[in-house]
Amino acid sequence: MPRRIQTDPERMEKVLNMILDTRFPPVARMRLLSSGFSEAHTLDIKEDITGTKACLGCGNCIDICPVLAREPMRKNKTQQRTSMALETLVGEDCDRCYACVLSCPQVDTTIKYYIVNRRNIEIMGRMEGRLIEDELDLDLFFEEAGGL
Ligand code: SF4
Ligand code: SF4
Repeated sequence: MPRRIQTDPERMEKVLNMILDTRFPPVARMRLLSSGFSEAHTLDIKEDITGTKACLGCGNCIDICPVLAREPMRKNKTQQRTSMALETLVGEDCDRCYACVLSCPQVDTTIKYYIVNRRNIEIMGRMEGRLIEDELDLDLFFEEAGGL
């Protein structure tokens, strides 16, 4: 739930691209580059949390991650549903799909639009590569099954 005045991705393009080009869950760093909790939240709390960039522990990034969807057993390592847990569970096996960033309520919309507008074709290329790999594995599976 970011603030109304948000991070300008053009002003930090180099850093954004550095993070997006690294094979490691990017959501925590994108959260920290964002504007923080909106003053317009509807939570029934007295404390002023405006601008807080902390992880809310909502688990959206964990639920959307394709690595964890393919290998749900990884989640047995921890009950935590934070960005730190995502980093522990996925680490360098990250597909760089950026779904965790797009699903995080603490990441600025401006950063999400930057990813959708500038990185979508590249993401689709990577995903297509994965599909081709999976299809090859499937062919191998059928070949082996047929040979039984
Ligand atoms: S959702 Fe995508 S970018 Fe995020 S950690 Fe999982 S594979 Fe990596
Ligand atoms: S999606 Fe939720 S759990 Fe993940 S980093 Fe954002 S606030 Fe934290």
